[in-house]
Amino acid sequence: MKELLTMTAERAICYLQSLEARRVAPTRDAVARLASFDMPLQDEPTSPESVLQQLDEIGSPATMAMAGPRFFGFVIGGSLPAALAANWLASAWDQNSGLYNITPATAALEQIALGWLLDVLKLPPESGGAFVTGTTVAHFTALAAARHAILEKVGWNVEADGLFGAPPLAVIVGEEAHPTMLKALGMLGLGRNRVVRVPVDGQGCMRVDALPPMTNLTIVCAQAGNVNTGAFDPIRQICERAHDAGAWVHVDGAFGLWAAAAPSRAWLVEGIEDADSWATDAHKWLNVPYDSGVAFVRDQHALRAAMAITADYLPTTSACRNPADFTPELSRRGRGVEVWAALHSLGRTGLSDLIERTCRHARRFAEALAAAGYQVLNEVVLNQVLVSFGTSEITMRVIDDIQTDGTCWCGSTVWQGHTAMRISVVCWATTEADVEQSIDAILRMAAKHRQQT
Ligand SMILES: *Cc1c(COP(=O)(O)O)cnc(C)c1O
Repeated sequence: MKELLTMTAERAICYLQSLEARRVAPTRDAVARLASFDMPLQDEPTSPESVLQQLDEIGSPATMAMAGPRFFGFVIGGSLPAALAANWLASAWDQNSGLYNITPATAALEQIALGWLLDVLKLPPESGGAFVTGTTVAHFTALAAARHAILEKVGWNVEADGLFGAPPLAVIVGEEAHPTMLKALGMLGLGRNRVVRVPVDGQGCMRVDALPPMTNLTIVCAQAGNVNTGAFDPIRQICERAHDAGAWVHVDGAFGLWAAAAPSRAWLVEGIEDADSWATDAHKWLNVPYDSGVAFVRDQHALRAAMAITADYLPTTSACRNPADFTPELSRRGRGVEVWAALHSLGRTGLSDLIERTCRHARRFAEALAAAGYQVLNEVVLNQVLVSFGTSEITMRVIDDIQTDGTCWCGSTVWQGHTAMRISVVCWATTEADVEQSIDAILRMAAKHRQQT
């Protein structure tokens, strides 16, 4: 075991060191070589050393350098050193982290990490929380709590009796709601299409003047951080309107909630603490390994009522919180370990610096590309930049070229009818030099196509 793990750590370290110099996207050849994993499963065992050697030699070159400093393709981030190392140690612990009495270390770390998160994200300290795989499942978990609380008030026990025959719930989303919001609603029996869609403004923010009438059977899903523009719905006003009617407000803050930790961005999340539930990712801006999302629910009894499990063989009474009473899963890894490690290693100043720094990098991208004469399509309020290089065809060619060039990796999107390069800066490891090197490469690709037109 010792030799194997030491050898594996050395391979992992070499991999991480290679990210500085290698192309961000894997080569076509490296991807083609993945076929050699696909051998007939042999009868005899293979030595673990040989298994790991194959994984590294064939797998590593075919990865996308998402852990590196110049991947700007999605709003996702890398892994902080302390978070990656904590993940390794927690894997060695191999704790089935559903119940406090059985796995006290991971359960306690989750409870403490939850308190720290509520603190740095400036959410109500009495809120309950669930460590889940990502924002998709955090939506599912928080909205299950919403469904419970709303129907309980009208005398319907949804966990026991299901939705058939229940008073119908109305769901309001913005026209720019993330697709995972709709997916979660579908999984809950609330329907992907059974929603009222509220029109948005030029940045993708829900228009409060266009909110439909609400009742105490309504859930409003607001967004903190549009996946294209980074824009925030006017959450304080939405909460005021919704709460006057007795409705529930859920916030998709997959990356945007973290603005609360950065003094210069905190204005974006003003009033967010008035909502009833929130979903965020730790594998995005907190830079912990996949997968790691968190659901927060102000009324933790509603969360527990929606998720609690009981069975005779499970020791469910304990002095501390049983993680499995708050999550969809029973058997689960202790996701709070890395969250605790990341927050502890950063401290408050490290966290606010991480958010401020990445936002500064995004503004530098926007300024440099605008100064070169290209059109920035969004107000760069956070870490997201949308750039057009001219026509849709030219913009797509510049994006193709930058992906092939490999200096950095940016994706494409269509923003309100305009094709754009989408630049998301989220990784702890991105330096000013990485940003300048990436700007130079993008301008080089763009200039090629400018000359041709
Ligand atoms: C990333 C993202 C999601 C989905 O999160 P997963 O962790 O991939 O499930 C939802 N909403 C927004 C705004 C996002 O950026």
